[in-house]
Amino acid sequence: MSSDTPLTVAVVGTGPSGFYAVEHLLKRSPGIQVDLFDRLPTPFGLVRGGVAPDHQKIKSVTRVYEKIAATPGVRFFGNVQVGRDLSRAELLGHYHAVIYAFGAQSDRALGIPGEELPGSHAATEFVGWYNGHPDYRDCRFDLGAERVAVIGMGNVAVDVVRVLARTAEELHGTDIAGHALDALRESRVRHIYMIGRRGPVQGAFTHPELKELGEMTDADIEVRPGDLALDPASAAALARGEDKGVERNIETLRAFAGRPPTGKRKVIHLRFQLSPLDLQGAGRVERMVLGHNRLVATPSGDVRAEATGATEVLPVDLVFRSVGYFGTGLPEVPFDQRRGIIPNEQGRVVTAPGVPATGEYVVGWIKRGPSGVIGTNKPDAVESADRLLEDAAAGHLLAPAAPGREGIGPLLARRGIRVVTWADWQRLDQMEQGRGKALGRPRLKFTSIPEMLTALDGA
Ligand code: NAP
Repeated sequence: MSSDTPLTVAVVGTGPSGFYAVEHLLKRSPGIQVDLFDRLPTPFGLVRGGVAPDHQKIKSVTRVYEKIAATPGVRFFGNVQVGRDLSRAELLGHYHAVIYAFGAQSDRALGIPGEELPGSHAATEFVGWYNGHPDYRDCRFDLGAERVAVIGMGNVAVDVVRVLARTAEELHGTDIAGHALDALRESRVRHIYMIGRRGPVQGAFTHPELKELGEMTDADIEVRPGDLALDPASAAALARGEDKGVERNIETLRAFAGRPPTGKRKVIHLRFQLSPLDLQGAGRVERMVLGHNRLVATPSGDVRAEATGATEVLPVDLVFRSVGYFGTGLPEVPFDQRRGIIPNEQGRVVTAPGVPATGEYVVGWIKRGPSGVIGTNKPDAVESADRLLEDAAAGHLLAPAAPGREGIGPLLARRGIRVVTWADWQRLDQMEQGRGKALGRPRLKFTSIPEMLTALDGA
């Protein structure tokens, strides 16, 4: 592109992967013009709506994103939903390239009887609710429950367990949504069961997250020593010493197993080699049937759970399934229903193997699936951005008709869309922090889109 026709790129979604793609494009191609679209008036994706509120330090990564958004040539179009307010075809008609960065917006189901009973929820809903995501603010969770099960051994399950185990005073010092703080203050939860279908060596949690579960102010941790007796395949995997994180996890679990209870108000029970088979109850969840598993080595060297046929019944009043996020598509954009991702080759969207869609790229969870921590998105986004730049150099991008990206603002205005600009977001951010300060909290989030727009424009 010449200097009088700078490269213009639209990014759909403003979580970490989108920002890392823009950061790389700006570094490699100064002068590039980028429009960031988000269906919410607020940016930052799962850093705002997913990262647990008691992990405030992790959220400071947004300072990096703020710098990117403040770069000349970068604009924010908040409150604009691609697929509703703007079509894919319109994006392709106004920019040289489009990067899809909208993450995985749904969750995996267990597919067991009783999963739809009241009292059974996706962990992703609970996470969105306690983080004040507008889609989930009206969810209701019966925190009058004393016994709660969280299915899954990943970091989302750990987050949910920790938020349930925290004291109201601890939560007050976080940016947890006001409605969630009020509800959790009244919580009667006493027993929190975190249930894994495989063994401790296969736990998907990272070590700092596991360790933190043993450091709760008002919750003891219980691990059954018998659960740490490793099957031959897991013992061999551990002995190979290839994964320091797993070694540390096992050490920590052994230390947990040796701890006597100290009489704290709540207990976190970690249970392994159990698969939920059935959620039962009269009109709501009252118990869960769990199948016992043995672990068997697979030919590929992995370890899988196999039912032994033995079962047990665990009385529980509330269940969160935390078995992974799952991607959903955008109208007209190629989508792999089975994997929940946009099919791509190194970040180039493809319509069939080896057939790239001109000018379309993908990054983050909607590219590779819902795995990895925030930092994982950096190399992932760099790969896609490099492919985009290679295509730009080869003249293989889209050719937007005049006025190009300058036509987008007027188009949205004609449709009556109240675009939330970066300056607007900065005002919302200040207001949220101010509301929080008045309560001795870091932030009090706005949790509905109308509430945010009213705060900006008045009633
Ligand atoms: P995850 O790490 O993929 O964990 C999913 C868990 O669900 C695994 O323990 C898995 O067990 C289990 N599972 C899957 N299907 C199941 C089934 N049918 N029945 C029983 N259990 C089943 O997913 P996640 O916890 O949603 O996290 C997503 C990503 O975000 C991860 O990369 C995570 O590290 C990251 N994250 C990081 C943080 C942090 O850094 N603090 C916080 C939150 C999330 P198997 O292993 O047996 O499949």
